[in-house]
Formats: sequence, structure tokens, C-alpha cells
Amino acid sequence: MMKYDMLVNKENPLSNDYVPEGLVEYPEYNGPKIDPTHKTLVEKETLEAFWELQAAAKADGYHIIIDSAYRSYDYQVKVLNHWLEKEGEKAYTFVAMPGTSEHQTGLAFDIALYRNGEYTDDLNEKMPEILWMNENAWRFGFILRYPKGTQDITGFKYEYWHFRYVGREVALMMHDDGIVTLEEYHQRKRSR
Ligand SMILES: [Zn+2]
Repeated sequence: MMKYDMLVNKENPLSNDYVPEGLVEYPEYNGPKIDPTHKTLVEKETLEAFWELQAAAKADGYHIIIDSAYRSYDYQVKVLNHWLEKEGEKAYTFVAMPGTSEHQTGLAFDIALYRNGEYTDDLNEKMPEILWMNENAWRFGFILRYPKGTQDITGFKYEYWHFRYVGREVALMMHDDGIVTLEEYHQRKRSR
């Protein structure tokens, strides 16, 4: 059974052969791709929850889409190499080391938007869509995985575009208890 609250970070990496169960294809992606044969895959329950989130956002006038979701260990190696070639050593500051990327769980994704029918991944934290996600994602079982000011806990810089499915129960508990990182949730779970 899929553990929706699983913790993946620099201290808890996934092995190179970890592939989540129940990956399904997300059909809505139209942006550029590093590898054009790469399909956008998401874990099944995560995608079902996303459709509900997306419908609620649409009802408020926002069109939020999944931009980048499951990445295999090998794909993360490709992404890292792509950016190493383009940006040199700097790439290590914004691309996760293979095994430490939550994208390997199939439960995490980066969002993009449609605005006036046009795809854009040029986002900023003040966009109404991003604010909407911050307000509402938890209702559908998602958390903003790398919130502002938590780099010393998560090991990652603030990423306002990266969301993680943890299930409704966990997201609700975190929301009600004011827990903003999955690391702190796990710490509390262990000490209970
Ligand atoms: Zn991401």
C-alpha cells in the first residue's frame, strides 16, 4: 500500500530502483520538455485528488495544471546533467540530487497555468493562482512542500510551485495544527 505521508529528503533518499505503484498518465501537459518522449506520470490517487482541486480552482476562475510530476531516478540524472551542462556547478543549488527528489515518489508535482488559454510556467508567488493554492491545496490532501523560511528543516529552498500529496487526513491535521513541513509532521508522529 502506498504510504502517502512518506518522507523523502536529503537524509531519507530513495534507492535508484524505487518506482511507485499505480502511476498513471496525466494528459494535460503542453509545455516544453527536456526529453520529448517523457510522459507526465502521477500516482493514481494523487491525480484523482488533483482533478478535484483543479475543478475547485476553475470554479474560482483559475486554471492550474500539473507541469512536471513523476521523475524516475534516471530521469533526475538526466535533468541534473542537462542543467550542469547549461549552468555548471550552480545546477546543484536548484536541481535535487537523484534519490532526494520528491518527484521520484509520484506524489509530487510542479504546477503551471493556463491564462487566457495560454500555457505559462513563468510563475511568481504573488499570482492569484499561487495564493489560491496556498489557501486551498490542503483541502484536497496537498501541501506546499518547501514553504518560505523552512530551508533549514526541509533542506530545500522555498518552492512556491511544488506541491505534494499527503492525503486529506494528514493535510487536514497539518493545517489544523499549524505544521508546515512534512519533516515536522514526522517528528511529531514519532514522538506521539
Ligand atoms: Zn518540484
